[in-house]
Amino acid sequence: MYANRADGTYAGVDNRKLHLNMPAVFIYGVGLEHRPVLLSFKLENHPDWQVATQLERLDGNRFRAPNYYYFFDSPTMVGEIDRRSWQSSSDGRKYTIEIALMHEGTDEQLDKYAENVKAIVEEEKAIFGELPQFDFGKYTFLLSFNPWVDGDGMEHRNSTVCSGDGELSDDGKAMTGVIAHEFFHAWNVERLRPRSLEPFDFDKPNMSDELWFAEGFTSYYDDLVLCRTGIISQEDYLNALSNGVNQVWNGPGRRHRGPIEMSRHAPYVDAAVYIDPVNYANTFISYYTYGNVLGLCLDLSLRNRKGDLSLDDYMRYLWQHFGRNEIPYTVADLEAALAEVTGDKSFAADFLTAISAAANCPISKICLPKWA
Ligand SMILES: [Zn+2]
Repeated sequence: MYANRADGTYAGVDNRKLHLNMPAVFIYGVGLEHRPVLLSFKLENHPDWQVATQLERLDGNRFRAPNYYYFFDSPTMVGEIDRRSWQSSSDGRKYTIEIALMHEGTDEQLDKYAENVKAIVEEEKAIFGELPQFDFGKYTFLLSFNPWVDGDGMEHRNSTVCSGDGELSDDGKAMTGVIAHEFFHAWNVERLRPRSLEPFDFDKPNMSDELWFAEGFTSYYDDLVLCRTGIISQEDYLNALSNGVNQVWNGPGRRHRGPIEMSRHAPYVDAAVYIDPVNYANTFISYYTYGNVLGLCLDLSLRNRKGDLSLDDYMRYLWQHFGRNEIPYTVADLEAALAEVTGDKSFAADFLTAISAAANCPISKICLPKWA
């Protein structure tokens, strides 16, 4: 195994830890995806090392997954780990939220950081009205902020890996953006899930029409949640938002593809790039950025229609009708849900027509016309 890249995607092994993203570490046999998996660590030579993972612990350092889909979704960190945990209530249940962190900083820095992570968890819970029903009653933030790791964030069913070469600083406010983004995915993507990604195919790219919503709306909420918790100022929030609006509104790529088509390019962008020369600088806008701005447009439009309506209501409706019971959605479902929430079928149809446009997505039609 070649493991020199500790991040949310690959593997990193050094004298202080094992940082394991399972698809980068373990092979699987075609046709064996539904077999249970047993994972066992022998740590006799490392008495101070601990294991952090969303996998079910059987005893000691033995863990199990019901099948390969679950196993591949369960990154695992082993080493000298600092932990903080607390309880969060939801729908009559109590969940343990845990930070498992490797870093170079102090206990005081971690305490302050944990306070901010806690605020983010509670703020996002308020948007959806409840926490997801985390397996075994627990969600784990697997964090590695060391100078030699690579920056990344990856969502999983009951955990996330966030990594970077930054440090806990600024009163525990640094390195919180990735937390706000990845924890939002516990609802939007992990459970409120596009039908196009089910079941996941390990052998070929998995194309999805919905990443403008799955990644983009999550991106809209990450900074918004930081602003609502007071971790970033309103001024910083608006500056970041303006950057996104400029990138989309003035980006030449908008003339070539709409948000759905941009979503279909995921196998060629982000961390999946090929070396083939392409003209993406002029023909592509990331579905993260595009979707972030579409989230803003829809939020403003909803707030403009009725004083008490906002994008939070739409997200909560989708959670209650799809995510909570893990019913995969389609683009048509997103339209029908918008019609329900607004009581206006033509508004919902206009929005989805805009999203589906092959080029020049008419953002101005779905947002305040003044913006155009
Ligand atoms: Zn994401």
